[in-house]
Amino acid sequence: MTSKVMLRQHVFRNNPLIVLMQRRYKTDYRNLKEKKWRGVVGLEIHAQIVSSSKLFSGAGTGFGSPVNASVAFFDAAIPGTLPVLNRRCVEVGVLTALALSCQINPVSWFDRKHYFYADLPAGYQITQQRSPLARNGQLQFQVFTPGVHKKPYTKTSRIHQLQLEQDSGKSLHDEEAQRSLVDLNRAGIPLMELVFEPDLEDGEEAAALVNELSNILRRLGTCSCKMEEGALRVDANVSIHRKGEPLGVRTEVKNIGSVRGVANAVRYELSRQTELLEAGEEVVNETRAWDAQARQTVPMRDKEEKQDYRYMPEPNLPPLRLQMDEHPGPHTGLVSIPELQKQLPELPEQTRQRLQVEFNISRESAIILVNEDVLLQYFTSMMEEKKGRDSRLAVNLLLMELLKQLNKKKMTLEECTVSSSTLGDIVDLQQSGTINLLTARKLLHEALSSCTQSPAQIVKERGWAQITDPQEIRKICEQVLEKNPKLIQEYKAGKTKVFGAFVGQIAKHTEERADMAAVVQQLKKMLSE
Ligand code: ADP
Ligand code: MG
Repeated sequence: MTSKVMLRQHVFRNNPLIVLMQRRYKTDYRNLKEKKWRGVVGLEIHAQIVSSSKLFSGAGTGFGSPVNASVAFFDAAIPGTLPVLNRRCVEVGVLTALALSCQINPVSWFDRKHYFYADLPAGYQITQQRSPLARNGQLQFQVFTPGVHKKPYTKTSRIHQLQLEQDSGKSLHDEEAQRSLVDLNRAGIPLMELVFEPDLEDGEEAAALVNELSNILRRLGTCSCKMEEGALRVDANVSIHRKGEPLGVRTEVKNIGSVRGVANAVRYELSRQTELLEAGEEVVNETRAWDAQARQTVPMRDKEEKQDYRYMPEPNLPPLRLQMDEHPGPHTGLVSIPELQKQLPELPEQTRQRLQVEFNISRESAIILVNEDVLLQYFTSMMEEKKGRDSRLAVNLLLMELLKQLNKKKMTLEECTVSSSTLGDIVDLQQSGTINLLTARKLLHEALSSCTQSPAQIVKERGWAQITDPQEIRKICEQVLEKNPKLIQEYKAGKTKVFGAFVGQIAKHTEERADMAAVVQQLKKMLSE
C-alpha cells in the first residue's frame, strides 16, 4: 500500500468530518443531483465564550457544578438587579470578529428578545438584534473528506453577523413526579452567535465549516468548542432548489451534537426534502431536531407557530462603544480594537501554509496536523527538539504509524503518553539509517506499551539495527535465491509477481532488519543476470 493510500484510509476512519457510511452518502446525494436539485445550507452557531464569569453578572461559569450553584440574583431575575457587561466577553467577541474578517460596529446595542419559558426567569433574553457587535465577515475552509473528495477544495461562507447574548437556564423534566425543575447555572452564560449566509451546498461543507470554526476559536482561546458539553451548538438551515430558481422553503435542524452529526443531519434533511418535492409534496418551514441514534430529523413540537419576540432595546445597558483607533478618545477605558488586533495569534490557515513551506510537507498532512491540537504539538516539539530532524519522516511516524497503532489499541491521542522526544528518537534512528521503517514500527509499539527503555537502548540490546552492508545483503539474497530455484524459473518466465515472495522471505530471514531498498536493488540485479 502506498503511504498516500494509507493516509487516506487512516483519515477516513478517524476524521470526524467523515460521513459514517460512504455508500449511503453517495446514494442520497446522487438522488439529489440526478434530479438536478441543489442543496442550500446556512448555519447559525452559538459558541460559549471562555470566561470565568457570566455575561452580565459575577456568577461563575464552571461546567458541571452542582445544580443552581452558580446563580447571581441577576441571573434569577430578582427585581432591582441590573446587568453589568463583562469586559472580557466583549474582547472575546472582538477578537473572534477580527479573526473572521468582520466589520466591527463602533457602537452596538443590546436588545430584549421576549419569550415565555421556565428556564428564562426574566421572560426575555438579552441579545443583539438591531446593531450587533460585528457584520459581514467570512470564513474560508478546506473541504476534504477522504473517500468522498479526491483532493481538498477551498470554500468560503459569508458571515452575516456576530452578536453577544446570554444563554438560558435548563429545565429538567421529572416525568414520574410530573413536575419540572429548573437549573439556572447556564442562565446568563456568555455566548457569541454567528449567523452564516446560505452559502453551503451539502453536509460535508457544513461539517468542514464547523471544524474550521472550531480550529479558529480554539486557537484564539475564545471557546473550548466541546460540542459534547454544549460549548458549540450548531443549527443548520436546509433547503433545496433548482439552479437559477429562487431559494426553496427551509427547515431548521437543531440539537446537532457533533461535527459528524452536522454532516449526517444535513445529508438526511436534503434527502428527505428531495423525496418530498419529487413526490409532489411540499417542504414545511419548521424546526426539526436531529436524533443521532435513529439517524433522522424529527419535527419539534414546541415551536409550531411563528413567534413574535417583541424585540425592544435593553434599557438597563448603555450602548457598547469600542475604541476604533490607536488614540484613546474621550471614552478612555474602552475595549481597544487595535490592541486586540495585536493579540491575534497565527490562525489555522496560516499554520497550514507555514508548515507546508517550512517543513516541505503535503497540504493533506498539514490539514490533518492542524485539525488535531495534540498532533500539531507533537510535530512542533519534535521539530524544535532537534535541528535537522527529517520533517517528512516525523510526519509519517505521526500520521501513519502512531495514529494507526493508537487506533488498534482503541486509544485516543489524548491518552497517548509517549513523549515527543521518544518519537523524535525513533525518527533519528530511521533518519541515520540505523533502523528501517519496520523497526520504527516495532519501536513505536514498545513505546506505546510503556517500555521504559529508550529506542536506542532497545535497538542495541535486541540487535534491531538495520543490515546495510552491501556484502551481507548480497549474501542473504544469494541464500534465498539458492533455496528457490523454482521461483526463479517462474520469475524468468515472466511471472514477476513472485518477486514479492523473495522480498518476503528475506524480511523474515533477517527479522525485518534488512535495508529493503538495497535488497530490492540487489535482487533485481541478480535476477536479471
Ligand atoms: P430569520 O429572519 O428567519 O432568522 P434569516 O434570514 O436571518 O432568517 O436566516 C437565518 C439562517 O437561515 C441564516 O443562517 C441563513 O443563512 C439561513 N437561510 C436563510 N434562507 C435559507 C434557505 N432558503 N435555505 C437554507 N438556509 C437559509
Ligand atoms: Mg435570524
